[in-house]
Amino acid sequence: MAEKEEEAGVNHVVLLPGPMQGNVNSMMKLAQLLALHHFHVTFLTTDFIHRRLHRFADIQALSQTYPNLELKSISDGLPDDHPRSDNALADLYSFMNSHAKPLIRDILVSQTAAKPKVTCLIGDGFLGGLTADEADEVGIPVIHFRAISASCFWALFCAPNLFESNELPIKGEEDMDRMITTLPGMENILRCRDLPGFYRGTESNLVEPLKSTVFDCHQTLRARGVILNTFEDLDGPLLSQMRLMFPRVFAVGPLHAHLNSGRVFDAKPTPSMSSFWEVDRSCLTWLDSQPLKSVLYVSFGSITTITRERLMEFWYGLVNSKKRFLWVIRPDMVAGEDNNDRVPAEVEEGTKERGFIVGWAPQEEVLEHKAIGGFLTHSGWNSTLESLVAGVPMICWPYFADQQINSRREEFLKSAKAMAMLAHKSVSPGGSSYSSFHDLIQYIKSTGR
Ligand code: UDP
Repeated sequence: MAEKEEEAGVNHVVLLPGPMQGNVNSMMKLAQLLALHHFHVTFLTTDFIHRRLHRFADIQALSQTYPNLELKSISDGLPDDHPRSDNALADLYSFMNSHAKPLIRDILVSQTAAKPKVTCLIGDGFLGGLTADEADEVGIPVIHFRAISASCFWALFCAPNLFESNELPIKGEEDMDRMITTLPGMENILRCRDLPGFYRGTESNLVEPLKSTVFDCHQTLRARGVILNTFEDLDGPLLSQMRLMFPRVFAVGPLHAHLNSGRVFDAKPTPSMSSFWEVDRSCLTWLDSQPLKSVLYVSFGSITTITRERLMEFWYGLVNSKKRFLWVIRPDMVAGEDNNDRVPAEVEEGTKERGFIVGWAPQEEVLEHKAIGGFLTHSGWNSTLESLVAGVPMICWPYFADQQINSRREEFLKSAKAMAMLAHKSVSPGGSSYSSFHDLIQYIKSTGR
């Protein structure tokens, strides 16, 4: 016990997630794991997210379970009513880059009798340049965390080489099925259409959004290491390539499986520790009354928006499939519409026979439920990992960012069940992610000495 207290007193890690639900979810798991290993942890979000967490996540349970994990926030520089999802992400990103530096610096250098000095910053690679600059300035080691898939990060990182070898740019629609042959560790796996969305429509050089994304990926070279939410059996060949480039690659995922290992699902409700929306648990009761593996779970994550026409198309497809379905329609999912009228009356009525609609589901628990037989997903990385760990086969409807590449990887995987076993093995004692997480802990401790 004395040793534990001593450890908690020495090592103070600040985690700075990108301001999106998926990034906050995965970095919160990492924060919980570090807190369980007796680090003093500051989880630093924007004021906007901080308020949502206080409204919808079980902060009381979080602070009771992890007394050494503290939530703090800074302004993102945008007015409260400014949109912060989908296309508005670019605004958010540039505002944070220009506005947040001094605020982050204050947190990094602050020290009180009760709180030890910060010894390590784990910054979201989404804010790569920002976190690297700040850490350099105050002399604190920074490790980058990548919430996107390793394959997407690597495909973006290698963009300049793909242009150099004339594999890029993509030459229009007719070029989409061409194989990419020179991406190290992923040769002949990706077609042009599977590259991250940023690659679309590029001409002779890197265009702006791709250029700045690639620039951010290269900022990770300035970090002491990179943490990836993946595991060796899933991404081994490209992790080997990355290790030639980065000093330390910690493949510690799937993080939620790491945190849950040993926990029995359905035994007791899991409080949501990082939700931005109110979790509707009534769908679990509905699932309890459905036959084994009979329900298709449909969710497009936290950012994707669709038109009302697209929503109706999906709905007709789901109803006409005659399968049971559980569908998440977020309050802000239909672009440009009044939040309170999110589910058209005809959809609500026509769904009752075989379907169930919620505004936000306890997704991890849903995917582990025995009634779930498949997942129609937008292929966000967290959703992909959660489905993979639960052994649920996916039908992919990739929307943007890393989703095209994630959905392509799915085609190369072994059966859902076999992948689930490998994922669980990786976070069990002796498994690759288990060992990598312990390497990470040792490394962070060494930075505090
Ligand atoms: N999620 C959830 N309830 C829902 C829909 C999504 O808890 O009804 C969670 C999901 O478990 C995942 C995250 O939101 O952890 C979405 O992240 P992902 O990377 O899949 O997609 P993004 O939202 O970043 O597009």
